[in-house]
Amino acid sequence: MNFPHDDVLVIGGGAIGLATALALLEAGRGVRVLESAAVGGGASHGNCGTITPSHAPPLAAPGVVAQALRWMFTPDAPLYLKPRFDPALWRWLLHFAARCNLRSWRQSTQARSVLLEDSRARLAEWVQRHALDCEFVEEGLDYVFRDARRFRHYVDECAALREFGIDSQVFDGSAYEREEPAVLPGMAGAIRFPGDARLRPDRYVAELARVVRGKGGRIEEQCRVEGIRSLPDGVLVETANGQRRGRDVVIALGAWTPAFVRSLDLRVPIQPGKGYSITYSRPSVVPRHAMVLKDRSVCVTVWDSGFRLGSTMEFSGHDGTLNPTRLAALERGAREYLREPVGPQAHERWYGWRPMTWDDLPLLGRAPGHRHVWLAAGHGMLGISMSAATGQLMADLITDRKPAFDPTPYRPERFS
Ligand SMILES: Cc1cc2nc3c(=O)[nH]c(=O)nc-3n(C[C@H](O)[C@H](O)[C@H](O)COP(=O)(O)OP(=O)(O)OC[C@H]3O[C@@H](n4cnc5c(N)ncnc54)[C@H](O)[C@@H]3O)c2cc1C
Repeated sequence: MNFPHDDVLVIGGGAIGLATALALLEAGRGVRVLESAAVGGGASHGNCGTITPSHAPPLAAPGVVAQALRWMFTPDAPLYLKPRFDPALWRWLLHFAARCNLRSWRQSTQARSVLLEDSRARLAEWVQRHALDCEFVEEGLDYVFRDARRFRHYVDECAALREFGIDSQVFDGSAYEREEPAVLPGMAGAIRFPGDARLRPDRYVAELARVVRGKGGRIEEQCRVEGIRSLPDGVLVETANGQRRGRDVVIALGAWTPAFVRSLDLRVPIQPGKGYSITYSRPSVVPRHAMVLKDRSVCVTVWDSGFRLGSTMEFSGHDGTLNPTRLAALERGAREYLREPVGPQAHERWYGWRPMTWDDLPLLGRAPGHRHVWLAAGHGMLGISMSAATGQLMADLITDRKPAFDPTPYRPERFS
C-alpha cells in the first residue's frame, strides 16, 4: 500500500468535525476535512446557539413517554412523532422508552454534565485564544414560565441539578417582569442558569474553519464522501472528487452517520430529530438573556446581528420539508411571552436534523472492529455546547494522550 496522502481525514464539516480538526491540528496532526456541501451547512447552521451546561438532563425522563403519546396527535406540539412504519425508529423508541426511569436519567445526566462543563470552559478559552468572532456572550440563560405548576416542578428539579454542579437563580413572576422588560405581564416565574452562554452558530462554524485553515488544515467543500474502506495501515475513502487516503478517519456526519457507516458493518442508533428556526433582524425590545419559553418549548436567542426563535422536535425521518404549522408554532409561542415576539424582517426560515441517540449521549471513540476509524456523532440537542470538549477528547484519543475526563460513557461499543 502507498504512503497515505493525508494524516487524518475528517468526514463532515459541521461544528463537531471542525472542532475535532482544530484540536487535532493543535496536537500536531495533519488534517483534511471532507464536506459534501459548504462547511456548517447541516444542523450546525441555524440552531439556537445556546451553550448550556444547564441542559445536562436527557430527553428520556420519567413521564416523557406518556407526554409524547399525548403530543402524537397534536401537529404543532414541541415533540412530535409522525406515525409511520420505520423499524429502526421503532427500535430506537423502545430503547428510549426503556430509559425513561430515574436510574438511566441520572446516568445520562452525569455523563452529559461532564462533557458540557468541560466544553463550556474550553469554548471560552478557544474564543479568546483563537479570537473567534462569533458573538459569544457569557451571561446565562433563563427558563421562563407562564404555568405556575410547571414552574414549581422545575424549581424542584433545580435542587437535583445542584448535585451535578449546575447553579440556578429563581425569580417569582413579578420580580422577573421587573428584571426583564422584554416579557409580557403574567409570567409565573423564571429560573436563571448563570453558567450558560450563547453564540451565533453559523459564525462559530465559519470561525472554526478559518482557524483550521490558518493552522494548515485542508478543507474540501463540495466533496461528498461515498464510501470508506478500512486498510491494515489506514483508510481509503471514495469521494465524488476521487480517492483520499488517510492514516485515520473521523466520521463526524451528525444525522447522516447511520447510513454512512452501514458499509463498515456498524449499527449506530441515531435518528434525525428535526427542529426549526426563524431568524429575524433585531426587534427594538429584546430579552437580555437567551430564553427558553418553557410552556411552549421555544428557544429565543439574541445577538447584535439578529434574533432567532427555534425549537420543536419532530421524528419524521430525513424529511426535508419546511412545515409551516411548526414554524408558526414558534411565533405563536413567542407571542405569549414577549412584547416584541418577532423582528421587523424574517431573514431565514430553516430546519435541521439533530443527531439523536436514545441515551442522549454522543458516540465518541474508535469504531468497533476498525483500528483507524473513529466516530464523533450523535450530539442530539447539544452539539454546539459539546463541540469543544468533543474535539479535544477525539484528539486525545487518536493521539493516545490522557483525556481530561473519563471517555467510557461515550464509547461507541455500548451500542454493539
Ligand atoms: C432547531 C435546532 C436548535 C438547536 N439548538 C442548539 C443549541 O442551542 N445549542 C446546542 O448546543 N445545540 C443545538 N442544536 C443541536 C446542534 O445543532 C447539533 O447537535 C450540531 O449542530 C451537530 O453537529 P454535527 O457537526 O454533528 O452535525 P452537522 O452540523 O449536521 O454536520 C454534519 C455535516 O456532514 C455533512 N455531510 C453529510 N453527508 C456527507 C457525506 N456523505 N460526505 C461529506 N459530508 C457529508 C453535512 O453536509 C454536514 O455539514 C440545535 C439543533 C436544532 C435543529
